Amino acid sequence: MKNQTTDKSRRAILKGMFAIPVVTLTGFQTSAQAAMLTTSDPTAQALGYTEHSAMAGKTCSNCMLFSAPAGDAGNCAIFPGKQVAAAGYCNSWAAKP
Ligand code: SF4
Repeated sequence: MKNQTTDKSRRAILKGMFAIPVVTLTGFQTSAQAAMLTTSDPTAQALGYTEHSAMAGKTCSNCMLFSAPAGDAGNCAIFPGKQVAAAGYCNSWAAKP
């Protein structure tokens, strides 16, 4: 005869093992799919952010505050949790050293 308490404990442990990766994957997807900064964002407006730079040789992609490029977007230290367009620009642009 099997010990029912031991079976329940094993099931509880197994459920816990599978729950952790699901939470981790969900968190990863959230950070990987950060929303794009829009020109209607109040801070973006205050800094004159545009998704298509009109300044020759100055774009987010060559700004010191730009990081983690992925496709046509990347992170900006001024806009945490948002992605900026690699071809964008704002008045805080600073040349990469
Ligand atoms: S600070 Fe640099 S990377 Fe950030 S939005 Fe302005 S130009 Fe783009």
